[in-house]
Amino acid sequence: MPPIKIGIVGLGKIARDQHLPALAANPDFDLVAVASRNASQEGVANFATLDEMLEGMPELDAVSLCTPPTVRYGQARQALRAGKHVMLEKPPGATLSEVEDLAQLAEASSGSLFATWHSRHAPAVEPARQWLASRRIRKVHIEWKEDVRVWHPGQHWIWEPGGMGVFDPAINALSIVTAILPRNFFLREGTLQVPENCQAPIAANLRFSDSEDTPITADLDFLQTGPQTWDIHIETDEGNLALRKGGSQMFVDDRLEHEAPEQEYPGLYARFAELVARCESEVDVAPLRHVADAFLLGRRETVAAFHDEG
Ligand code: NAP
Repeated sequence: MPPIKIGIVGLGKIARDQHLPALAANPDFDLVAVASRNASQEGVANFATLDEMLEGMPELDAVSLCTPPTVRYGQARQALRAGKHVMLEKPPGATLSEVEDLAQLAEASSGSLFATWHSRHAPAVEPARQWLASRRIRKVHIEWKEDVRVWHPGQHWIWEPGGMGVFDPAINALSIVTAILPRNFFLREGTLQVPENCQAPIAANLRFSDSEDTPITADLDFLQTGPQTWDIHIETDEGNLALRKGGSQMFVDDRLEHEAPEQEYPGLYARFAELVARCESEVDVAPLRHVADAFLLGRRETVAAFHDEG
């Protein structure tokens, strides 16, 4: 098969850090265009908007949307209607309803829709799922703490409605636990700490459980300086599992059982190529549903204003 001609929309942090290198290393794709309001990329056709890209390059097969979640629905709809395959950065949209509408649209169109969860491609996630499958889970604790000033410098959209605040990284933890735990789980209570000048939480504590009353807790923080924590601890009847460093390491009873180089975005594009070849879609809204539940059920506490410069 000839390479899939793909265009990137939104040339921000994640497009530069991950999408450009992953595409350059994957012979199934040929990056032929970029749509950016502010930047340009050497060696490809540059357009200011998706509109112009679709019009100026009808031979495009696919688009990868690396924009914030609040603008993705309109862009994805436009691209699907133009017959393109569409890859969505996480979170796949600002609301569950719009993502479900996109999934329906994809079913009725000729294109594939891939709602990505990059953390599910972290190397220890699948080994953890397999290890847990035969064990009885007693307790789960998620600790997801990072420094917003390091990872999201100047990203004002993250504090606006739909930007999700601390859930922008924490949805990655939710994408892992929804993939590795054997049963559905659901929120029982939560506290969301919202800076007085923001629309989205900067920290949260959540308590979930499942049909067997397994305690599942999450401690989320966007102001962690120094070492960063992206860990999930799971107690079972046959030992304790820890997924550390965002799912790149798996420990059992403090013994390192699995570790491999980070390959999340190469994994995403390999999966997208498979979906495109079969004209299939993959849209799992489970992580976004938990975030929506936190906004529905969580108790708000107003905390000190957040200013990006520190
Ligand atoms: P970012 O640096 O702010 O980049 C987003 C880009 O989208 C902007 O540079 C801009 O690109 C475009 N954009 C912003 N607002 C727009 C609007 N209103 N209309 C149209 N285009 C707009 O953000 P990011 O960190 O790359 O995050 C983008 C997505 O990737 C988010 O959903 C985030 O959760 C996800 N993600 C981020 C990371 C990370 O570490 N930062 C990791 C994994 C996933 P142009 O100026 O080129 O138009």
